[in-house]
Amino acid sequence: MGAMRVDGQPDVPAVVATSGAGASGTGTPEHIPFNRPTLSGMELVYITQAVEKMHVSGDGDYTAKCSQLFEKVFGTPRVLLTTSCTHALEMSALLLDIQPGDEVICPSFTFVSTINAFVLRGAKPVFLDVRSDTLNLDERMLEAAITPRTKAILVVHYGGVGCEMDTIMDIANRHGIKVVEDNAHGLFGKFKGRYLGTFGAMATQSFHETKNFTCGEGGALLINDQQYVERAEILREKGTDRSRFFRGQVDKYTWVDVGSSYLPSDILAAFLYAQLEQREHIQNDRKRIWETYDAALGDWAEANGATRPIVPDYCEQPYHLYYLLMPSYAERTRFIKYLKERGVTSVFHYLPLHNSGMGAQFGGRTGDCPVTEDVSDRLVRLPFYNSLKPEQQEHVIDVIRGFHAG
Ligand SMILES: *Cc1c(COP(=O)(O)O)cnc(C)c1O
Repeated sequence: MGAMRVDGQPDVPAVVATSGAGASGTGTPEHIPFNRPTLSGMELVYITQAVEKMHVSGDGDYTAKCSQLFEKVFGTPRVLLTTSCTHALEMSALLLDIQPGDEVICPSFTFVSTINAFVLRGAKPVFLDVRSDTLNLDERMLEAAITPRTKAILVVHYGGVGCEMDTIMDIANRHGIKVVEDNAHGLFGKFKGRYLGTFGAMATQSFHETKNFTCGEGGALLINDQQYVERAEILREKGTDRSRFFRGQVDKYTWVDVGSSYLPSDILAAFLYAQLEQREHIQNDRKRIWETYDAALGDWAEANGATRPIVPDYCEQPYHLYYLLMPSYAERTRFIKYLKERGVTSVFHYLPLHNSGMGAQFGGRTGDCPVTEDVSDRLVRLPFYNSLKPEQQEHVIDVIRGFHAG
């Protein structure tokens, strides 16, 4: 088997083996990859327009269109496109003025970037376990983890299913601690009728190839707390007031703060906008695929000691992924191999952060987050992408039904 990245993605290009038309007609079953990037059809048209306008650097017309769409939908004061979710998280750490020795609470069951952006500023990560139902940060453990040094709480809406934001925001507000939502999975998802990404002081999005909406590599920072807007624009523009200059608010731009270069090219924004325009269509496809898996695999899961995702009825998920929890690590290994031998790629997901090589340097030990350790060993994600055709999904389901846990 090829190398696996820390997030369990195969370390090979996601687009393999399928000819555009699907089954080859030779009788050989086609290979079904785990992921294929979403394409709406208008990407190249908009890219051509961006190029013809001769504004291909950051903050051109398409960047503005994307930002404005998000600001309107979410009612957020400011949304800045960034070069990645990782970079949006780095901006969050700068905006919250994280200093060496500050403690930052986050779930152990997440992608490295969630906490790395804060560790980069010298923060000490405090890893919390996740709930065994939603696999989200266990809010029942939150208050006990807060110390006088706690500077931020990072939450991740796993699979786009909202964390218990009522409780989390209540605790954070009582202690005067800022919340950042890593909403890489949850774009357009809702918790109790309110959009994910609008609860914390700020939230981050990813438009990486593996996410619901993509431009290859990209991200966004949603700034819900107005006090951070001006500085965010400066950090993103190399520590200059160039954004104000372009709006005609100052007559020259200069170095005013620390910063970096977090603007994506307008070419990427053009690609992304093509997808955002089609968001209803894209979300409908994903909903159908998710619900088809869930309805088709119920009996099989029960008979084989596997469990399906649990989504509280007050969470509207954007259908980012579909996973199963197998009865054991050994059964998961056998299941992934069984599917692979039949041309279906399935992948595990996050390795716990607290007892990783880096986590151990911060004192994390095996046993600290038992739920995270357990689900990380048993979770497997099924092929999930917008262009997965009903007959291809039927094939995946048939293959799965042929597997019997020992
Ligand atoms: C994908 C992902 C990221 C990183 O996104 P990039 O845009 O690749 O930087 C961060 N956090 C979570 C939870 C993710 O799923």
